[in-house]
Amino acid sequence: MQANQKYKGFRVLNVVPVPDCDSTGIYLVHEKTGMEVFHLLNDDEENTFAFIFATPNEENTGVAHIIEHSVLCGSKKYPLKDPFIRLENQSVNTYLNAYTTQDFTVFPVASVLKADYFNLMGVYADAVFFPLLKKEVFMQEGVRLEVEGKNKTISGVVYNEMKGEYSSFESIAMQKPIEALLAGTHCTTDFGGDPLFIPELTYKHFKEFHKKHYCAANCRVFLYGNIPTEEQLDFLEKNILKKISSAGKKAVWPKEKNVKIKKYFHAYGPADSESKDGKNSVICSWKIPDCVDRVRVQVEALFLSALLWFDDCAPVQKALLDSGLGEDAAPQTGHYISLKYPMLFCGLRGVKTENIKKVGSLVLSKLEQLCRDGIPEDDVKRVCMEVELSNKEIVRISGPNSLSLLARSIRGWGYGAMPWDTLLFTAEYERLKKRIASDPNYISSLIQKYLLQNKERSLVTVTASLAWSKKRALMEKKIAQKMYREADKDELLDSLQKMRKFQSKPLSKKEENLIPSLKVEDLVAKNKKIFTKESEVNGVTVFSCKEATNGITYVHVAFPADVLCAADYEYIPCLCMCMGEVGWGGEPWDKIQTKIQCVSSGIGAYPQSAPVSYKASKEFLKKPYAGRDWVIFRIKFLEEYTKDALSVLSDCIQKTDFSDTSRLKDLVTSQYNSIRTTIVPYGHAYSSMRAACTTNKACALHEIWEGLSAIGTAKKLYSMPVKKLSAKLNEILVKIRNSGAVVNVIADKKGLSLFSEELPQFIKSTGIHLLRKKFANKDSDFYAMTERLGFKTLGSNKSSSCSASKSVRSGLEDEYIEVPGASGYSAYVFPGARMGTKDSVAEFVYTHLLSTTTLWNDVRTQGGAYGVVLSTKSDCAILKYSTYRDPNPFASLNTLVNAVEKDFGKEFSKDVVDRAITGCYSSEVIPRTPSSKGALAFFRKLYGIEPTSAFKALKTLLKIKPEDIQKAVNRCRDKVQKGKFVVIFGSEIAENPFKKEEKKGNSGNDGQIRGKYVKIML
Ligand SMILES: [Zn+2]
Repeated sequence: MQANQKYKGFRVLNVVPVPDCDSTGIYLVHEKTGMEVFHLLNDDEENTFAFIFATPNEENTGVAHIIEHSVLCGSKKYPLKDPFIRLENQSVNTYLNAYTTQDFTVFPVASVLKADYFNLMGVYADAVFFPLLKKEVFMQEGVRLEVEGKNKTISGVVYNEMKGEYSSFESIAMQKPIEALLAGTHCTTDFGGDPLFIPELTYKHFKEFHKKHYCAANCRVFLYGNIPTEEQLDFLEKNILKKISSAGKKAVWPKEKNVKIKKYFHAYGPADSESKDGKNSVICSWKIPDCVDRVRVQVEALFLSALLWFDDCAPVQKALLDSGLGEDAAPQTGHYISLKYPMLFCGLRGVKTENIKKVGSLVLSKLEQLCRDGIPEDDVKRVCMEVELSNKEIVRISGPNSLSLLARSIRGWGYGAMPWDTLLFTAEYERLKKRIASDPNYISSLIQKYLLQNKERSLVTVTASLAWSKKRALMEKKIAQKMYREADKDELLDSLQKMRKFQSKPLSKKEENLIPSLKVEDLVAKNKKIFTKESEVNGVTVFSCKEATNGITYVHVAFPADVLCAADYEYIPCLCMCMGEVGWGGEPWDKIQTKIQCVSSGIGAYPQSAPVSYKASKEFLKKPYAGRDWVIFRIKFLEEYTKDALSVLSDCIQKTDFSDTSRLKDLVTSQYNSIRTTIVPYGHAYSSMRAACTTNKACALHEIWEGLSAIGTAKKLYSMPVKKLSAKLNEILVKIRNSGAVVNVIADKKGLSLFSEELPQFIKSTGIHLLRKKFANKDSDFYAMTERLGFKTLGSNKSSSCSASKSVRSGLEDEYIEVPGASGYSAYVFPGARMGTKDSVAEFVYTHLLSTTTLWNDVRTQGGAYGVVLSTKSDCAILKYSTYRDPNPFASLNTLVNAVEKDFGKEFSKDVVDRAITGCYSSEVIPRTPSSKGALAFFRKLYGIEPTSAFKALKTLLKIKPEDIQKAVNRCRDKVQKGKFVVIFGSEIAENPFKKEEKKGNSGNDGQIRGKYVKIML
């Protein structure tokens, strides 16, 4: 297409090359309505579209967020209650989502098949432009008053989701610098919704908000991929533009009041434990004034943030850590360039009240000193290295790379710039580099302009307060009571009844067939080969994988961890965390870290264990690397740095020591502070790991290394004398590095050749050789380690005879873990079929079907949880069930058992099974990045998994028949009683059966709860 060309009512405004993503950018406007379209046209077969609406948020009711959820619950052409989950069930999407930000609501979807792509676009277009927005959906997704006997509680999917947010100190602390800096703008409101205000939202306002903002004039359509622009415009014209009667208006940005920014800003957040009450996070925050050249400001802000406080050895962050004014860096530290105003934050957490102001003056004096003395050249060099590497690397973080292009584009396009302006990062960055090279004072002038002379700044303190949390809980109760008092009781009960009826009504045959889907016959099983070569260099096994890595080389060096005795395993995560972070050879850690980062993007290490494949050959089992536990060092670098990068990696492995105990103490403190805040957002991961931990040794190790046990260990190491810890880590590292290693490399042709030239020298200088034998640990040693959680626990350790659940369950001992907060997560693990069998593929289809039908309906739609999933983990022969932010986690086990029981004897039609197969197919065809392909191939090598196993499973998948599903149901029904149930629940959840007071009369649980009850104090 060409500029000014007209097509179906659209006019091409501009066509520009966008070299940063190898695309041509085509920018169009629909002349009658004002809808804008931006297509990044390229060769990528994974096409992405997104509908973007400007929804500047001016209130705390979460209206934009609730609309985002609700439009996906039924529309004119697809009037069923949950088209979104139907798509998840039966489309070949590689990404399907919706999200709300302060200023925009975005509906992005990606698919690798064209027919599927347009199916998805059709359903999404109808959802956003023509939703039904029923009252029942408003109550379900937004907010409602629940009445159960004397209990009156507020519920709703978004309401519960946001209650979870408000239980997390770090989430609340993140909002506060924004509130301080953007005082007088609409950005101080909570776009997600504050649970104290969500109940104020009326159904009328909710409908009006949609009408006002979800119109063609206020819609931007982002397109990415190889489907021709014309075809996409045809589709938009036919399915949206032809059907709308009024174009509506573009959203206007709310007027801003000129409010002076407070020099000091103080706020409270939830305390996650008794001991942390009163501790402060202190964040120095700057607002970068609005500017015509947005992309230049964004690039400069990003550069400054990377240079000054990107990590512990960046000068400002280091000064803060060395000062001892706080415990560790505040996680809010960084740059925020996605809002209308870019902002910069840095700070500390765990600051005593008397030290708050000192944090502010320290940062300013450090900045002044940097301006005076200049920035060391190496610091600039390592930042450039990081930026260049991350620009070149092909990544996929929970979705295709196009999503980050989308977000980047909105950053400019949304606020009046051209949609490609903020995508032309490389050219702008090159200009910055030139300015730095030609003017030795350039960086100082940036520091002066953006930070030191910038009066738009605030020193923000957020204090963790139990009283704050308690007060909020009380206010929530009062709001519920007030809602009840003021409600028309008949109407209230009537609307609740209507909602339940709406939720529990099964789909009719007609409804089931409404949402378009592909036929199984249209799906193909492609064998996506990954080429890995196994060779031996000087007695060391080397795997090399050739991939189009864009000039980046990835290296793994794996040392066997199983030369250690079981008791030492719990130190492994700490050891890994320290790699590349502590110094060696008497040189200070920050000098060493700078040295590493001048030639690579840093060195890291991680532990790994997995079960050996059931299908592993005898020949494989004889290999010295077969099925072992590992500590894996990893590094990535630009291929022209191969020699330097390998040399620094070799030093790190050979020379690292833990003699700098003050650095070690800082790392351990930071680790503990970070990991303990992860229970609330990742409770589902913790509960699942715990429920699985008696399955096999690898699952036990996951629990020990990454699960609740790891939090207990982090706490133990934090309180342990640091000299003792240092000695222990030294001892372990020596053992590991003397036990031989295997090497894995992923690179393109040139990278591989450079690597093989340097490899013999690397092997020699690192002193690696053939692998040593395992230490004779017993699996039971590891199971025993998972028994002691490593916390000081309150509550009874004995079986508690409270209410609930099936008494016939003959499973393992269940666990109920109480933590601070108001979120609930339940997990259940029970036996499934082995990997590589038809049974396991049938279970894959059945669990997918169950997750997206009955379980979704019962746990999410009716139960009000934020998420639920039942999935297979066939390498361990288990099925895993987990719920997320679940207000009724204790009842959720019964939901699963009942759902399986309901399917017993049921006939599954071919249509239903085929749709589920299509949905499963999607997760199997998600494109992989070059580095993840190479990592997968390495993993398969270590655990004896055939490279063709995924292809075989895909072929089996396409042949699954209804009778296979019936058999899977029968097996699940037999085994669903034989598992382990773990609930992690916040003390404040209404359902808490262990809470002594106000227990009487609550019918939340019937039957009996058996198992271990633990209350964790963090
Ligand atoms: Zn949400």
